[in-house]
Amino acid sequence: MGHSGWVTVKCRICARTLLIGRDIVYYCPKCYKDKDAYFCEADYKRLKGKCPYCGSELKMVL
Ligand SMILES: [Zn+2]
Ligand SMILES: [Zn+2]
Repeated sequence: MGHSGWVTVKCRICARTLLIGRDIVYYCPKCYKDKDAYFCEADYKRLKGKCPYCGSELKMVL
């Protein structure tokens, strides 16, 4: 899996730093490349699991 270390992303809603592999992180498969569409668990619930940009179902980052 390489040695690039932990990958962190920022929640697009609350700007919390999320550590992939430690925190539960959701992303939009359509928007994550263009818009860094990552979301924390709390905002995932607030968004009812839908991307605020395109309305797609958010997926959990594994
Ligand atoms: Zn958030
Ligand atoms: Zn989207």
